[in-house]
Amino acid sequence: GDPLLKVVDLKKYFPVKGIFFTKGYVKAVDGVSFEIERGKTMGLVGESGCGKTTVGRLVLRLLKPTSGKVFFEGKDIFKLKGKELREFRKKAQMVFQDPYSSLNPRMTVFDIIYEPVKVYKLKVSDPEKFVVNLLYQVGLNESHLYRYPHEFSGGQRQRIAIARILALNPEFIVLDEPTSALDVSVQAQILNLLKELQRKYNLTYLFISHDLGVVRYMSDWIAVMYLGQIVEYGPAEEVFEKPLHPYTKALFSAIPIPDPEITRKREKLKVPGEPPSPINPPPGCRFHPRCPFKMDICEKTEPELIEYEKDHFVKCYLYSRK
Ligand code: SF4
Repeated sequence: GDPLLKVVDLKKYFPVKGIFFTKGYVKAVDGVSFEIERGKTMGLVGESGCGKTTVGRLVLRLLKPTSGKVFFEGKDIFKLKGKELREFRKKAQMVFQDPYSSLNPRMTVFDIIYEPVKVYKLKVSDPEKFVVNLLYQVGLNESHLYRYPHEFSGGQRQRIAIARILALNPEFIVLDEPTSALDVSVQAQILNLLKELQRKYNLTYLFISHDLGVVRYMSDWIAVMYLGQIVEYGPAEEVFEKPLHPYTKALFSAIPIPDPEITRKREKLKVPGEPPSPINPPPGCRFHPRCPFKMDICEKTEPELIEYEKDHFVKCYLYSRK
């Protein structure tokens, strides 16, 4: 069917200001494309600084792209205005890593969950009943209604943050490392809750994480990001069982990949003035300074993202179109 979300060649460059002129751009997101079908989860993985959080903010229109497009239900989200924009803001939500910072410490659970109803002027006949029903949806109950965020554990706070979003009857949720701050046992409970809610309400998720175990558990599709670009993309099982890109392979095996900081310092000694960084990413394949399979062409020309096997895409010269 038609995808709920479609991202086309999205770019976001942040200028790096010098004293007199712009020194360059951090190419945080540099030509990212993907689609998510309704009711499915797309896992976006990569190390910190690869641009995955920026993608999450762009698809919710919390940031304006440098170029590229995002379609939600077939409409360009950056062209939405008035009523349509309000509808989008309601339907597309975000869950953050640290629920504590997203919950006002001076508000009761009731006020926290009911606030979006007021902001969007939704019609609710019995506010207390409405909020209690939401608390049940996330595994809490009426005894929690008039308590404050500090009285709850991290997992419970994340449940409150999820209830607050459910109040708006969303369709699409960006989950940005939603369980990274929690203990492993609590993590599993929250992930199961998210899965249950997805089934119940046919929710569509963009699940951003550096934790591969968690991504595997949650995702139908996976996109692997490296320095602002998707280097591999496909059905989750396929990518986990047959990773193609050397970066994905390194990420999935327990083998530690060389620290970019150390590589950067070493490169600095060897090639003065051109350390690989998101400001001036390496030419050709961006992974080449760290890649054990590097060939001459890798340093010169950027490989394309090609469909190597059905639905399984890779951006690497080791693979040519079949
Ligand atoms: Fe390695 Fe070359 Fe493939 Fe890049 S294109 S991942 S440098 S083999």
